[in-house]
Amino acid sequence: MHQDIAKRLIDISSKIQKACHQAKRAEGEIRLVAVSKLQSVDVIKEAYALGISNFGENYAQELAEKSSSCPNDIIWHFIGPIQSNKVSLIAKHAHWVHSIDREKVAMKLNKVLESEGKKIHALIQVNIDHEESKSGILPEETIGFANKIITHYPNLILEGLMFMPKINAPKKDKIETMNKIVHLQKSLLSELPSCTHMSLGTSGDFEESILKGSTMLRIGESLLGKRS
Ligand SMILES: *Cc1c(COP(=O)(O)O)cnc(C)c1O
Repeated sequence: MHQDIAKRLIDISSKIQKACHQAKRAEGEIRLVAVSKLQSVDVIKEAYALGISNFGENYAQELAEKSSSCPNDIIWHFIGPIQSNKVSLIAKHAHWVHSIDREKVAMKLNKVLESEGKKIHALIQVNIDHEESKSGILPEETIGFANKIITHYPNLILEGLMFMPKINAPKKDKIETMNKIVHLQKSLLSELPSCTHMSLGTSGDFEESILKGSTMLRIGESLLGKRS
């Protein structure tokens, strides 16, 4: 098992390195977030021992349990849908949250963080293709929402945007989506220069995501193995 993760990590790292070279970007700009939802604490510890320090979780309760039994210098990213009754757990255990998708969540999170005397790094999840089935802020509302967070919810350190583009779309649609992403990120940056992060790219498209400016890759099974 350990060897499998090690082998896959070498492979992914070399692909990241190549993509950075191609994109003329420094490797240090890219953060690999190992998506560990439904993986055991042992798997997380194995990956940690190989030098992975950022892990992504989708379920608040699971995050709480794992963060309490894993090395305490792990950086935890909450990447799943946020239920408003789970906001306290997320505030307590996550360092980053990628999935801010509505104002109610931002408000609740800000309030809990206030009482904890804590801040959290936050990304706005954008529904870039206006998909009915997906949550997220619509692209045309994103900059307004970002300004709102910065103005009203100061315990959220707004760092940028998170995207989950369709994986099975035809190539032409994918290119269009990527163009929209790059355009939106540019507009956001020109208005809010501190929003330098972009969480984009999973197992299937992380190399292309690096070319498009991603700073955070969310990679699960192709690094840690099949989820149980
Ligand atoms: C599960 C998940 C991933 C990783 O998916 P894999 O197929 O395991 O690589 C990435 N991003 C989000 C938001 C996820 O929920």
